[in-house]
Amino acid sequence: EYVSSPQYSDSLKAFLQRRHGLYIGGQWCEAEGTERIAVIDPATGKAISSIAAGNGQDIDRAVNAARSAFKQGAWADMTPLERSKLLFRFAAVLEDNADELAEMEAVDAGKPVVYARHADMALSCNIYHYMAGWATKLNGEAIKLAGSAGGHAYSLREPVGVAGLIVPWNFPMVLLAYKLAPALAAGCTVVIKPAENTSLTTLRLAELAELAGIPAGVINVVTGFGAEAGGALVRHPDVDKVAFTGSTDVGRQIAIMAAQSNLKRVTLELGGKSPVLVMPDADVEKTVAGVMRGIFFNQGQVCTAGSRLYLPRSLHDTVVAELSAAIDNLVCGHGLDTAVTMGPLISQVQKERVLGYISAAESAGATIIQGKVPSGTDGFFVPATLIVNATSSMSCVTEEIFGPVLSIILYEDEEIEKLVSDANDTVFGLAASIWTQNFERAHKLAARVEAGTVWINTHNYFDPTLPFGGMKQSGWGREGGFEAIRMFTEIKAVCSGY
Ligand code: NAD
Repeated sequence: EYVSSPQYSDSLKAFLQRRHGLYIGGQWCEAEGTERIAVIDPATGKAISSIAAGNGQDIDRAVNAARSAFKQGAWADMTPLERSKLLFRFAAVLEDNADELAEMEAVDAGKPVVYARHADMALSCNIYHYMAGWATKLNGEAIKLAGSAGGHAYSLREPVGVAGLIVPWNFPMVLLAYKLAPALAAGCTVVIKPAENTSLTTLRLAELAELAGIPAGVINVVTGFGAEAGGALVRHPDVDKVAFTGSTDVGRQIAIMAAQSNLKRVTLELGGKSPVLVMPDADVEKTVAGVMRGIFFNQGQVCTAGSRLYLPRSLHDTVVAELSAAIDNLVCGHGLDTAVTMGPLISQVQKERVLGYISAAESAGATIIQGKVPSGTDGFFVPATLIVNATSSMSCVTEEIFGPVLSIILYEDEEIEKLVSDANDTVFGLAASIWTQNFERAHKLAARVEAGTVWINTHNYFDPTLPFGGMKQSGWGREGGFEAIRMFTEIKAVCSGY
């Protein structure tokens, strides 16, 4: 059942009615320009609020504030233990406000509120809690010199400085947490540029950071368009590092801009086209549930979405039949309805892009099986879609769709070599999953799949401890675990003459 007039809570209504500005140096302020960006509820297509379109001057103010807070004052003078305690407090404040943030995310990003609370917010809070503990463990190491008898040196791990954090719209809170939590734990200060269509939760997070006691200037938020505000942040000569999640095309431009400005450090979490490799001995029930979560969670707008399903001939018809039944059971509608399991896509543009891939596959001879979408709405809904008999040359198999579309490719049970080479035949290398009851086989295959994450009998499983990121054109560097701390620190070697 579609909720045509969603019941926003009173606190959400009050938040939406505010005039949202920028958060710079601990102050809320207007942007230099007067342009506003409409905030759209993707399930209704209606504007519900607006945010400021920050420009290069706003970025400059924010970078200056971040630099001052990095160099002197409460944050710079804080002991690691004080910083750690503060970050645990920040994590606790976020957890206390997770229901409110989840509701906001549901109307801003079109997420089922139950998932926004128990997946997005739960993981985000866990990341802040986990990273808070690293603030007191940023050790270098003692080094025994190779060319000097008895000589030794040591290394120091230091914060990289001012970091620019650029976040996409599909997981505004999680993908911010993956950057902000390690940046703060390392002792950096930041300027955040949230995605222009999902900035609300980041604005609220800045208020909560202040409430938790994070000093002025440590976290700055400049909302605005990618090319203008985002570009200015990446080109800024006083930014030491940019952590970016988004498309491969923009990631490439960011690497170039960073190199041409001040050679700032860059980490890139980019696109994917993750294969799902089902072995003939897979447990069908578990596999179907995992494949469903792998592709339809967040309407398929997940960089690690399991979008290419490789099925052995012996299981093909059974699995396709079960997937068809499962997509009929998805409840598509407004995310604030707690029965809803699939929401709309982020925008009309994205909806049309995704529908384009489906019709191209149909014209190329594939069979299309679809679930239901609500009718009589201007929301950006696309039905859960199976593309059966997909072949490796179709655009639905080679390109990232970023929508609820699963391409199903049949392989002959004994042709495992071909399966591995087809799975690796992509410019991306973000994630993959392997479904089998034979663990020896699973681990052998995991070693051969070219991906930053390989899941065994699960898909889209995240944990704050895991290094997350891509091989090939899926990115540079890792978020999560100690790897994330490495990405926000520099190593200094200290050595005396022997
Ligand atoms: P996008 O690249 O268009 O935008 C991402 C962010 O970058 C936004 O905040 C945007 O405003 C900003 N931006 C855009 N142009 C910019 C520029 N020239 N300079 C600086 N900043 C700029 O991506 P999107 O459409 O928002 O997100 C979808 C993409 O993100 C998909 O390709 C998806 O695979 C990828 N993604 C990757 C991961 C990962 O961890 N690997 C996670 C989620 C999404």
